[in-house]
This record gives sequence, structure tokens and C-alpha cells, in this order.
Amino acid sequence: MHARANRASRAGEPAVLRVAVVGAGPCGSALATLLARRGADVTLFDDGHRPELLVGESLVPAVVPILQRLGVEETTAALGLLKPGVSFIWSPTDQFSFSFARFAPAVPPYAYNVPRPGFDEALLTNALASGVHRVGARARLEPAPQNGDGAELALAPETLAAAPALGGRQPDLVVDATGRARLAARALGIHAQAGPRNDVAHFAHFEGCRWEDEPGQVVITRLEAGWSWCIPLRDRLSIGIVLGRPDADRLGRTPAARLERAIAVDSRLQAIAGGGRRVTSVVTYSNYQLISQRGAGRGWVMVGDAFGFVDPMLSPGVFLALRSAESVADALAPFLRRGAIPSPAELASALDPYAAEQAAMLRAWSDLVAYFYDGRMPALMCAGRGWVGEGSSVVKSAAQGHIERHIALQASGVRTTSRYSRTLLRVLGRHGLRGVEPVSLAIR
Ligand SMILES: Cc1cc2nc3c(=O)[nH]c(=O)nc-3n(C[C@H](O)[C@H](O)[C@H](O)COP(=O)(O)OP(=O)(O)OC[C@H]3O[C@@H](n4cnc5c(N)ncnc54)[C@H](O)[C@@H]3O)c2cc1C
Repeated sequence: MHARANRASRAGEPAVLRVAVVGAGPCGSALATLLARRGADVTLFDDGHRPELLVGESLVPAVVPILQRLGVEETTAALGLLKPGVSFIWSPTDQFSFSFARFAPAVPPYAYNVPRPGFDEALLTNALASGVHRVGARARLEPAPQNGDGAELALAPETLAAAPALGGRQPDLVVDATGRARLAARALGIHAQAGPRNDVAHFAHFEGCRWEDEPGQVVITRLEAGWSWCIPLRDRLSIGIVLGRPDADRLGRTPAARLERAIAVDSRLQAIAGGGRRVTSVVTYSNYQLISQRGAGRGWVMVGDAFGFVDPMLSPGVFLALRSAESVADALAPFLRRGAIPSPAELASALDPYAAEQAAMLRAWSDLVAYFYDGRMPALMCAGRGWVGEGSSVVKSAAQGHIERHIALQASGVRTTSRYSRTLLRVLGRHGLRGVEPVSLAIR
């Protein structure tokens, strides 16, 4: 047994895994809940940062089973709005609408749009009800001393002191769930790989908009530069624009001016929001395409955005965050069942497969998102529509249905890493475009 375990377990008592989760976003609260329910002693550091608006409002269908496992689907449904599908408006003539129900039961038939602060609060409340100790503090992490038990990362002294449940002893496992703050990576000097785009996103909530699509349907519109989202919430519409920095600069000097101008110059956005009223400030995000080069080590692990985030296109963030929480909880389950305290090195070995799986998932989403930006996905849709339109047959319809099903399996999060679905898309993206030029449908 290593030093932390000796200190943690008392004679005759089962050893309890002591975990510090830093960050009470969706990922941190979900992981804290799952671990506490399995008997871990979990301390959750919550910096209390609850801005009026947070991105991550549109969820993919694969989130639904995780919400059910956490026991928060009912609360989510009460807070949010059922999301039946997504519409892509690529040009006045190239528009594609998808309903998740069409791909059931392979894909959950719906998802949700949620106001994020309320959703985060619900997940935190759920964690506390599961016996998690909340510490209202902004945590600090630092490299562990070399002469310790082999752990690489430790809570800084004042952070440890702020957590009475830890009794002055370092936890067995430190989880970085700090999102884009990337606390562990910063403390350990771990680099992140930046994605190919250098976009900036501006968004706000509006009231009094005109909505002609299905209630809850998310609408993605390609703009002259970049793209926009419209995410219907219960009583508001979230509108965001995502575009390159030079194009953002050309739209206006301030985030509010840029968002206003983007709405004014796009006929579709103008029809939706022209008569509406902005009811929040405009929030900006940038530098978000980052994937950490390591995700776990001796006595520590990164989850959610702290490990990596791909892109707002297709809304994979909250799913990837909640899925990483599930995977880490599952990887630790054998120790919790046995009542054994693993050494930092044993934890690293147990968590390595999770880190590899999460990295593969992030890569698969990056590849999928690239199909939308470089125009191959809309080109494929146009080619498919043209092909079926040239004279429908049972075989053609079945083939088109098969292709759409595999796209849905990936974009819903249900099987994003499936080798077959990915290969199918790759082959079609190369050979199945039937003369439709992706570049003409690319997002600038
Ligand atoms: C422009 C944009 C649009 C997006 N749209 C969507 C979308 O529609 N759907 C979707 O699913 N995802 C979307 N995302 C991604 C989504 O927001 C994230 O993937 C998701 O929030 C990740 O959850 P998390 O728990 O890992 O991190 P976070 O939600 O960032 O939570 C981290 C928490 O840790 C706290 N924290 C930070 N530092 C400390 C500290 N030192 N001590 C204690 N606490 C700390 C933070 O305050 C925060 O509460 C979008 C992202 C961007 C950039």
C-alpha cells in the first residue's frame, strides 16, 4: 500500500477512495455524483462563477441516456425545451432538416435545449444530494513534491486547507474539471493542440422573435462569413455567430455591434430576429479548439473541456463532458467495489484507456465537424438529393437512408467513433459528391 492509502484507511475499516473534483460545471458535478454513489469520498471545488449566459445550450441525443443515469432528465425537461432535430440552412436553395425520431431507436428520438446556468445548478444539486462535499473556493493545483508517493499533481496548501472533509490529507485522485481554465495542464506544463480554425463566437438571448420552424428545432445557418446558431429555449431564443477574427472585425467594433450587423445583413436571421429584442448582454468566446496532449497521469485525470473541446458546430461539448465523466467513473468502479485504494501509478494505468478513448472521441468529432466547414457534408446532401430526384427506386431510397442513418449515428453522439460510419463518410466525401463542388458550400 502506498503512503496516501495508509493514511486514508483505518484498521478494520474499508478503505474509501478520496477524490477531489475541481470545477462544478456539468462534467465535474456529473462525475462527483457517479463516484459518490459508488462510495467514494468526493470533494467538489466550486468557484461559484455563474454568469448570466453560458454556451452549451443545445444538447445532442446521446446526452439523454446519461441524464437518465444521473436521474436529472425530468429536471432538464422542466428547465429546457425538447429539441426534435436540427435544420441546416446552407443557402436559400440548399436546406436540410433532420428529425432525430427518424433514426430511432438507433438514436434517442429527441434531445434538449437548456439554459446552462440552470442546468449546471441542477447537476450540482444532484451531486450534493448524492453526498458530495462542496467547497466554495477557486482551487489551485501545483506539481506534487518529488519525494511523495509518486503522484504528479497536488492541491495547493490553501486549497487543501479550504476542504474540511479532506482533513489536511491530499486526495488519492485529483480530477481537473475546470473547463477551458485547464488547471492541471497549466500546473503540469501539458501542451494542447489547437484546432484548425481561429474563430470568435458572439451570442445573446432574444425575446419576441418570429419562429416558423418546429418548436425546439435548432437552426444552423451558413452566413456570408462564418455561421450562426438559433437555439430555442423556453421563453427566449439564443442567437450566436461564429466567424473568423478578420470577418468579425469587419462586422463592427464591439460584440454587440457585430451580432446586430450579422442579423441585419442575413435575410434568414433578419426574418427571425429583426422584430425581436435582445434581453442579455452579448458574450464572446474565442480560442476554444484545444485538445490536451495528455489526459491522465499518476494521481490525476482531466475530464470535459479541461481535456479538450472540438468546436461549437454540431454541439458535441456537453455530451463529450458528460461522457468523459461516465468513463472515468466506470474506470474507477473496480477499485470502489473492492474497497481498495490504488497507488497513483495504478490509477494512471486504470485511467489510461479512458484517456485514449476520449482522445479518439475528440478526434472523431473533429473529423466530423471538418466535413461541415469544408463543405463536403452539404455537398453530400445535395448530391444525395439530386441522385434520388433523378428517378427514385427502392434501392436508391434504401442507400440514401443507410447513408443518412450513419451520419445521424455520428452527429447524435451515439456512434461518432464507429469505424464503419466514419469510413462510409470518408469514401462518400471523396467519391460520392457527383459533381457537387464542396468548396462552393464551405464555411468561410
Ligand atoms: C462558442 C461555443 C458554443 C458552444 N455551444 C455548445 C452547445 O450548443 N452544446 C454543447 O453541448 N456544447 C457547446 N459548447 C461547449 C460547452 O460549453 C462545453 O463543452 C461544456 O460546458 C463543458 O463542460 P465542462 O464541465 O467540462 O466545463 P465548464 O462548463 O467550462 O465548467 C467548468 C467549471 O469549472 C469552474 N472552474 C474553473 N476554474 C476553477 C477553479 N480554479 N476552481 C474551481 N472551479 C473552477 C468554472 O467556473 C466552471 O464552472 C460550446 C462552446 C463554445 C466555445
